[in-house]
Amino acid sequence: MHSSTLIPRDLARARRYGARMLEMRPDCERCGVDLPADAGGAFICSLECTYCADCADDLDERCPGCGGELLDRPARVGATLKRYPAATERRHRG
Ligand SMILES: [Zn+2]
Ligand SMILES: [Zn+2]
Repeated sequence: MHSSTLIPRDLARARRYGARMLEMRPDCERCGVDLPADAGGAFICSLECTYCADCADDLDERCPGCGGELLDRPARVGATLKRYPAATERRHRG
């Protein structure tokens, strides 16, 4: 079975332009705590919904937005972070 139909549209578009990379959102969508791109402790689903470790734990590592698995987000550091800056738009509502 071909799995490309499972790729979210924005990821597919990014891949087409050769710019596939994580958005590295700056905060936890649930509690609003800061999640710097160059530090660990952030968890993301396949759609890059982003949560802190405490929230991911509370949520049983299951994204409440899409139902997907929440996994450890890799950090982006040094020159790579300068070249590919983290997102700045905060996702916490409220
Ligand atoms: Zn949180
Ligand atoms: Zn999600």
